[in-house]
Amino acid sequence: MSDFLPTGIQLTYLVAASLFILGLKKLGSPATARNGNVIAAVGMLLAIVATMLDQHVLNYEMILLGLAIGSAIGAIAAYKVQMTEMPQMVGLLNGLGGAASALVAVAEFWRLLGNSQPIPLDVNISMLLDVLIGGVTFTGSFLAFAKLQGLISGSPITFPFQQPFNLLLLGAYVAGSAYLIVTPDSLPIFLAVVAVSLVLGVMFVIPIGGGDMPVVISLLNSLSGIAAAAAGFVVMNNMLIIAGALVGASGIILTEIMCKAMNRSLFSVLFSAFGSVAASGGGAAGSTGDQTVRSIDPEEGAMMLGYARNVVIVPGYGMAVAQAQHSVRELADQLERMGVDVKYAIHPVAGRMPGHMNVLLAEANVAYTQLYDMDDINPQFEQADVALVIGANDVVNPAARSDTNSPIYGMPILEVDKAKQTIVIKRGMSTGFAGVDNELFYKDKTTMLFGSAKDMVSKLVSEVKQL
Ligand code: NDP
Repeated sequence: MSDFLPTGIQLTYLVAASLFILGLKKLGSPATARNGNVIAAVGMLLAIVATMLDQHVLNYEMILLGLAIGSAIGAIAAYKVQMTEMPQMVGLLNGLGGAASALVAVAEFWRLLGNSQPIPLDVNISMLLDVLIGGVTFTGSFLAFAKLQGLISGSPITFPFQQPFNLLLLGAYVAGSAYLIVTPDSLPIFLAVVAVSLVLGVMFVIPIGGGDMPVVISLLNSLSGIAAAAAGFVVMNNMLIIAGALVGASGIILTEIMCKAMNRSLFSVLFSAFGSVAASGGGAAGSTGDQTVRSIDPEEGAMMLGYARNVVIVPGYGMAVAQAQHSVRELADQLERMGVDVKYAIHPVAGRMPGHMNVLLAEANVAYTQLYDMDDINPQFEQADVALVIGANDVVNPAARSDTNSPIYGMPILEVDKAKQTIVIKRGMSTGFAGVDNELFYKDKTTMLFGSAKDMVSKLVSEVKQL
């Protein structure tokens, strides 16, 4: 189809693709990310306008209706969704992307079925891949959404003969596809292939749980891009192929980064039902009920912070839930006015989505130069007088370093236990996302400041001001 498109449309696609790449590059640093987003959005607008000018677009009314409904739902969702619910939102969007791509293949199959001409082999293969990847992304993402939203248990769901059953499904898909390549116009087999793909998405995500969910969301994001690229091959649209490939590639790179941050291989994430061990409390060795914790009040905490020379703030999911980022910045400002050097330590999977802490702290106008990545800050903890942990748990759990039985063993952590003193703000002794106890809370150098993050940090601010 693309051969008939006017050159102007293809050239606009080229400009749009360049803007996407430029936008992606700028997303690499918090300082340029906002700009990058705008540049990529302009690219997308150009791509949409160019596609709308395509002579093959026959029904503008339906497109405008879809655009209006979709934009309205998207705008309302974007305004309403809480920062802590962003991973679920991303999961839903990935799922809808997968569904849209799979529907392109279904619609094209339907159209070609009514055509007397044979379905070309390359289009046929693209359709089959599109249905598989789009279908898996659709149901897999919706299941990930349900897990993260708490609609179903976040723990891995396993059953006897699960792997053989999955292999059987995969075999059914391959057999169905092979049949369709020889006999492309069989509607029942095509529908069966669609159904098997949808079930495969469910089977792909149900055994995964616990701390592995960020990797799954990121992988599904990549799959939604690959599905879009496959849809691009089905309708021979260059823009869809390029945009899909960009999402697919960047999603895979992010998946790789997330795996490294959690010290997991992608294979073990997908096939070892990690969270079931975590949920059963395995690895909480050494953290039995007879250990004591040392609790302090905000006044004592303020003294430790106010008289320190170096403080490293470690934000985590609890800071996000409590929306404490503004109070945290206020505390840091106050400490700096008193001559304390304040840094923020950012773990790649702190919170519930990649970049969660960066986004929140940027919202509170914390300077990027104060944010330190894990590798840069870890060697500095030994010199820190106080590490102030605010609603973080898994990402500071020393068991990841020392307890070979812990399900999070090997995950790189922020080494706050190496600081001269550690203050941990959280409401009680509950575990974090991975469901494992944290020996940090029982260490001699650790003091607990029990309470909700926003409340506690505000109290610290007023106490520090009185020093
Ligand atoms: P954790 O989930 O390990 O711990 C958060 C802690 O915050 C809890 O122990 C909780 O304890 C405390 N908390 C909850 N509410 C409040 C509040 N209002 N005030 C103060 N404290 C509060 O968080 P981390 O950031 O350390 O680790 C992130 C975890 O999430 C990792 O396991 C990661 O793998 C996973 N994950 C990360 C994603 C990502 O992309 N970043 C996505 C999905 C999962 P208490 O109830 O006692 O207050």
